Amino acid sequence: MPETLENVVIKGKALKDWSIADHNHALDTLGAHIYEPFSGVLVKGAGSNPYMLKIVKTTDAGEIETEVVDGLACYSAVPFGHNDPVIIPAVQAFLERMATIPRSISHTYLGPWLEKLKDFTGMDMFLPKNGGTEAVEAAIKVVRKWTRAHGGPDGTGITGTPVIISAKKAFHGRGLGSTSLMDDPASREGLEPLLPGTVQVKFNDLAEMEQAFADHQGNVAGVILEPIQAEAGVIVPDDDYLGSVQALAKKHNALFVLDEIQTGFGRTGANFAWQRLGLERPDLITIGKAMGGGILPVSCLCGKQELMEVFVPHSEGSTFGGYPLAAFVGLLTIVEFEKRDLARQAKEKGAYLMESLRKVGERHPGKIKEVRGRGMLIGVEVADGIDGHDLSERMLEHGVYAKETHHTNLRIAPPIVIDQAGMDKIAQALDESLAEMG
Ligand code: PLP
Repeated sequence: MPETLENVVIKGKALKDWSIADHNHALDTLGAHIYEPFSGVLVKGAGSNPYMLKIVKTTDAGEIETEVVDGLACYSAVPFGHNDPVIIPAVQAFLERMATIPRSISHTYLGPWLEKLKDFTGMDMFLPKNGGTEAVEAAIKVVRKWTRAHGGPDGTGITGTPVIISAKKAFHGRGLGSTSLMDDPASREGLEPLLPGTVQVKFNDLAEMEQAFADHQGNVAGVILEPIQAEAGVIVPDDDYLGSVQALAKKHNALFVLDEIQTGFGRTGANFAWQRLGLERPDLITIGKAMGGGILPVSCLCGKQELMEVFVPHSEGSTFGGYPLAAFVGLLTIVEFEKRDLARQAKEKGAYLMESLRKVGERHPGKIKEVRGRGMLIGVEVADGIDGHDLSERMLEHGVYAKETHHTNLRIAPPIVIDQAGMDKIAQALDESLAEMG
């Protein structure tokens, strides 16, 4: 933090003198209560290597500074780790010469970034956005717009309400469209009616999917799925599930959309999860998180040309989508991602980490139901009687930040650049934490 900001007085204290209690008070009283953060801990910045975080925590002896392994990578958004020696100086230098302009005038990085996105994703056209949920909202628009004109069994357009099928327990973000795709009661409460024509079926259940197509015969516009349900607790479908759904959608002239916001950019051991499964190219994919190099919210809707051409001037837009900094960071991220072969790294290291975590589970019979995942996206499902939030708090005590989902699963998704010592530390922290529980 620049010296000047450190010395700014806020609520009677220079910022550098704020205690953990001061920070907590501000968050409790002024921040909307949307998460359940750890209470006695504050992250101060990057640690001594790319996968460590420097934290301050409250102890009996007062506040102490220490480091923990980042086992979450900002929900998979930090592929290179923190304070990357290539990304940070390059962006610093860019900031010194950067101008901020909107999409109504071109700039020097947008075209090259789009070309690189085309090579990297295999898709034809791109709509850059910022947060992941915005890309999902845009995908819903394309599905509705295109199928209104060209959908339905005979390709002459859906005349009724276009139906979009998604999966139960899915997570697609916090927009009203994304929320409409999700069945989570806490997310939906007080918001009904949500988007009409949204239907959720059990994930990894082809029969339910077929039934939904039959129930809405003639009006199914598209299917939107995560290749692996991350927030739900890293639920990996059967290898043939997504391919079968894709074939079903094709048969019904409905669009097949994958939300790769969390699974993309190497996380599951391939650039994109659909490539690992040998699927045909999806009609649309949404990407985000890691595509911003771990430093910027950058997302994108990527699609086949004829679909993306539903957008015409004034039908869509975003002030910061594809602005110079986003394009620069987006391009640099793909270049560095490929140079370091992060997809291969995630595959190889993920296999090691998953095996280590499974061995820990075996040492604690009855406490872990399953360790599952692909690449560096790993879920540890805890047995009844073990609370995931409690486990994640203990993990932090033992030097690893890893957050639970729904109190039943611990998600382990460290920066892909993590080394063996870091992975061993995660396994050790799980071992030590489980030993204290149950
Ligand atoms: N889609 C998936 C699969 C996600 O995992 C997330 C975030 O976790 C989102 C969409 C929403 O992304 P954002 O939080 O950037 O809006």
